[in-house]
Formats: sequence, C-alpha cells, structure tokens
Amino acid sequence: MSAEIPVPQIGFPKIYQVIKNVLCTACGGCEAICPMQAAKVQIYNEANYNKFTPTVAEPTVVKLFSEVSREDNYCAHRKCYVDCETCVTCQNCLACQRICPILDGFPGDDEFDNVIDQRVGKSSLHGQDGAVVTGILKSLFEQGEIDAALSVSRNEDWETEVVVLTSAEEVSRVGGTKYTYEPVLSELRGVLKDYEKIAVVGTPCQVHSASLLRENLTDKIKLVIGLICMESFTYDDMGENIIPNIMGLDRKTVKKLDFAKGKFVAETADDKALVPIKEISHLARKPCHHCMDYTSYYADISVGSVGSPDGWSTIFIRNDTGKEYLDKVQGMEYDEKPIFMEIVQKLAAQKHKNNEWDYQKFKEVVWAGGEWTPEEHST
Ligand SMILES: Cc1cc2nc3c(=O)[nH]c(=O)nc-3n(C[C@H](O)[C@H](O)[C@H](O)COP(=O)(O)OP(=O)(O)OC[C@H]3O[C@@H](n4cnc5c(N)ncnc54)[C@H](O)[C@@H]3O)c2cc1C
Ligand code: SF4
Ligand code: SF4
Ligand code: SF4
Repeated sequence: MSAEIPVPQIGFPKIYQVIKNVLCTACGGCEAICPMQAAKVQIYNEANYNKFTPTVAEPTVVKLFSEVSREDNYCAHRKCYVDCETCVTCQNCLACQRICPILDGFPGDDEFDNVIDQRVGKSSLHGQDGAVVTGILKSLFEQGEIDAALSVSRNEDWETEVVVLTSAEEVSRVGGTKYTYEPVLSELRGVLKDYEKIAVVGTPCQVHSASLLRENLTDKIKLVIGLICMESFTYDDMGENIIPNIMGLDRKTVKKLDFAKGKFVAETADDKALVPIKEISHLARKPCHHCMDYTSYYADISVGSVGSPDGWSTIFIRNDTGKEYLDKVQGMEYDEKPIFMEIVQKLAAQKHKNNEWDYQKFKEVVWAGGEWTPEEHST
C-alpha cells in the first residue's frame, strides 16, 4: 500500500479551489450540472473522508475526487485509484466551473443597479413576512405557469430538507424562513427529467448559481426568486446550540424564527426569546463570512423583510422575466408607501464591509490557472 496516493492525471476543475479554501456555499449547482455525479454536497464525516476536501463540519462538496482515496483500487488504465465500472471520479469536463457563484464573483458596491421596479407587498396566505413567495408560487402553479418549484421545508425539530413542490396545494407547507442551509440545487438534476417549467427559491448564493445554470445548462428554469440574506447556519449551530442553549427553548415549541431590529427572535405559542444578533453572527457558516451579496442580485425577483412594515415584504424586480411573472400573479396586495431604501442600502453596505475580501484577485489567480493561497494575497 503506497503512503502517498497519486492525484489522477485528469487535473482539477476550478471549483476545487473554491472547496479547498472553504469558500464553497454548498449551493448544489455543481452537483446539478456534473455529468459524472462526481460533485456531491455533503457534510463531512469519516465515512465520506476525502483527502482533497476540507474537513469542515458543514455542507461542502466532498465527493469530487473521493474515489482516488481508495488505495486498494489503483487503475493502471487511467493512472488513478478508481474502479472503472463504478467510476464517479471527476473527468475534468469543466462544466461545474461555469455555474459556481464564487468563481463568477459578487455584485459591485451598488447591489441595486439592476432593479427595474420595487414594491411593498403581501398575499392573503401565511408566510414569514408578507407571504409573497408563497403567493407567487401558488398563483403561478394555479395558472400552469410553473410545474415544479425547488424550495426548503422543515420538520417540528427545525431539521430542513430540499423539497420539490409540484402543485399549488403543496406551497403553503414550506412557507416561513429556516435559517439553516440546504443545497437547494442538488435536486435540480432529477427535476429536469420530469418537469418543464421550474421555479427556484433560494438564498443569494443559490439563485446566483441557478441563474448561471439557466444560462449554461437549461431553459427549463423559468423563474428565479431570491431571498435577502445576511447569513445562514448549520443545523449543529442553529438546531443544537442557538435554539436550545442560547435561546433556552425546546425546538419543538418554536413556531417562528426571525432576524429583526438587531435581534434574533424565536417565537413560541405564548412566548418570545430574543438575543442580539451580534452574539450569534460569528456562528454563521464559514462561506457566509465571505459573501458579498445581500439582496440576491442575480435573481429575477428578490424578496425580504427589511425596508417594509411588519406583515409586508420588500420586493425587488430585477429583470423583464421577474416583471412578466410578477404581473401574472393574482391575489397580491401592494402598499402605496415605498420601500424604506435607506435601511436596505445600509445593511447591504454593512454586509459588503464586514465580509470584504479580494474576490477579484481570487478570480484573476484561479481563472489564470494559478493556485490561490489566501495568506499570499492578504496584504
Ligand atoms: C438564511 C436566510 C436569511 C435571511 N436573512 C434575511 C435578512 O437578513 N433580511 C431580510 O430582509 N430577509 C432575510 N431573509 C428573507 C426573509 O426571512 C423571508 O424569507 C422573505 O422576506 C420572504 O418572506 P415571505 O413571507 O414572502 O416568504 P414565505 O411566503 O414565507 O416563503 C418563504 C420561502 O422561502 C423558502 N425558504 C425558507 N427558508 C429557506 C432556506 N433556508 N433556503 C432556501 N429557501 C428557503 C421557503 O421554502 C418558501 O418558499 C432570509 C432568508 C433566509 C432563508
Ligand atoms: S469538471 Fe465535470 S466531471 Fe469534474 S466535477 Fe466538474 S462537472 Fe463533474
Ligand atoms: S457550485 Fe456551489 S456547491 Fe459547487 S463548488 Fe461552487 S459554491 Fe460549492
Ligand atoms: S450569506 Fe446567504 S447568500 Fe451568502 S453564502 Fe451564506 S447563505 Fe449563501
């Protein structure tokens, strides 16, 4: 058995540097596009040990080169450690690097330069804020404008999973915000086989990749709805630590979680626990500390709570597709008062400042074929 396992002679796609440097948001885009099923988002554990990916206890792409760690399975044909019959090792087709949000970069300082219209809205349904996302999906399903939507649901323990909605009746059961993260796009591959008119709902990193997948892979993605997002958490931190230990609550009793007015708030049927955001923000997932997109710049429509009164949602329409679909939605009410932009702009600027890093340099080095070493580029 050799001590040093050779790297297969197939090179590395550039997402390798995203993964290695713990910049991977775990959006699942590479899993959706990879023809070899070599890219797979999982939480690292001993069973999926892979010497080429970081051993971080949060979702990242762990598979990619996993087969090469099988020391007993050296393939002389391809000069790597794979079993050709079950080979799922990366073939370096480079598709994944076209749809990775980190390799594409972030919006500039002005996140609002592509907004073509903005509204304060609500639907009559139940949701996190104005139930605008629920209202859009439900109405578009009813009119046959979409036949599938990718989103995230939770159970009573606040454990989350990616769901594929296929009817108006199913939409309400996934309303409400979960602050844990799921690789929403990892389910896209299966959905593309069975459905023609797909909507994707997700955080800025997920909708960025979704828009790149629409450009590069499929025209079946019809609508991309982005959520405004300051940060997200792993289940270990949110479900096992923040809710029970920091907020002192039994997860099962929590009805709603929210970030509002500088506090993280957990509501039960008869109580409310609050903690200053600054006391938990350091627990956010590692890639969130490098993220410089607050308002889902790459979505067709962005929705959030900031800038609108309680019970209403802030809506940014960012392109003609977003406008076309939102204009079709029935049952939406719009307030005459505009979005309080000052606060949205302030928080966007704050996110950019707090998470600032030289992603342009990263792109320059990586796309030129170089190796990114953060220390070398920190000055
Ligand atoms: C991690 C995270 C952080 C956020 N941070 C902010 C913030 O800082 N400021 C702000 O203004 N708004 C933030 N939001 C958005 C906000 O909480 C609401 O989701 C948004 O206002 C839409 O409200 P609604 O009532 O229209 O949505 P609803 O009608 O309740 O629908 C919500 C939709 O979002 C989907 N969803 C819920 N959780 C997730 C998730 N984790 N990943 C992917 N999809 C999900 C649901 O499945 C549902 O389709 C955040 C959302 C998330 C998921
Ligand atoms: S380069 Fe191609 S085969 Fe390799 S992980 Fe990316 S998409 Fe899959
Ligand atoms: S596409 Fe998404 S999951 Fe894949 S490496 Fe990039 S950020 Fe990570
Ligand atoms: S802050 Fe939000 S958009 Fe950015 S990486 Fe984290 S979850 Fe994705």
